[in-house]
Amino acid sequence: MSTIRVLGASLFLVLAANAGAQQYPTRNISMIVPYAAGGPTDTVARVLGQAMGKPLGQTVIVENRPSAGGILGPEQVKNAKPDGYTILIHHIGMATTPTLYRKLRYNPLTDFEYIGLINEVPMTIIGKPQLPAKDFKEFLDYIRKNKDKVSYANAGIGAASHLCGMLFMSAIQTDFLTVPYKGTAPAMNDLLGGQVDFMCDQTTNTTSQIKSGKVKAYAVTSAKRVASLPDVPTLAEQGVKGGEVAIWHGLYAPKGTPKPVLDKLVSSMQEALKDQNVRARFAELGADTFPPERQTPAALQQHLKAEIEKWAPLIKKAGQYAD
Ligand code: ASP
Repeated sequence: MSTIRVLGASLFLVLAANAGAQQYPTRNISMIVPYAAGGPTDTVARVLGQAMGKPLGQTVIVENRPSAGGILGPEQVKNAKPDGYTILIHHIGMATTPTLYRKLRYNPLTDFEYIGLINEVPMTIIGKPQLPAKDFKEFLDYIRKNKDKVSYANAGIGAASHLCGMLFMSAIQTDFLTVPYKGTAPAMNDLLGGQVDFMCDQTTNTTSQIKSGKVKAYAVTSAKRVASLPDVPTLAEQGVKGGEVAIWHGLYAPKGTPKPVLDKLVSSMQEALKDQNVRARFAELGADTFPPERQTPAALQQHLKAEIEKWAPLIKKAGQYAD
């Protein structure tokens, strides 16, 4: 093939890709959730995805790629075609897995494009309905006395529930048996059924169960009490230091997604987060929407980097790793 024909063919490909990017989106978009359907990450994805569909003019379909620790979802998105039709929603696990896993098959800092920060969600320490403890003090006594018997449910190494449990164990200097699930939706089912004793999970999954009295709430892990759960005290209020953690969510696309496509994803996410119904639903679930200046690619990139640096020494100190 002559040089001119090769150049002509490449120019055609570039022009075609640009034209495609300008028309984007012309079909449904998949938002990958790295945990089970019905759980807290899934809940945030469904509220956001539905609202993003309006400005995008297409349906955002939430697809669950559950795995313990949530590490298969980011891998799937890293390997997806960078055309804007596959995006990832993920939480703090994006910042903890690089330290927790010796062999992670994606790099959160180099394999993705950033869309923006979504919201921040507190966590709650809850127990199965049959637990005898009426308050945090009794709960602490109970799990300390029964540390060889009690079981703690989490969504695997890298999950928010894992991080919260790890901090809690270290703060109260008591180890207990952990039972991993592919998300805290199935973990909640087992907790309600009494098969596991307690867990720490986002308010997006626990608020309605706490309010309806189906689980026992012992503490929130945020610095302040949560407006939607005013009667649940913080860990610090109860004298436990070092258990503070808040979960944040971000939206990502595969590395190499064209700029015009990314711009549309950014503006649709920002548009969705202005929606009063979205904000009200998040607030009802205890989640705080990030302010507009943080709903940006630069803010997500900066936050992710800072969080990787923040959690690395704490994880190393706790000595918890996976391959
Ligand atoms: N709450 C889970 C976690 O611990 C994730 C989920 O099921 O959405 O990370």
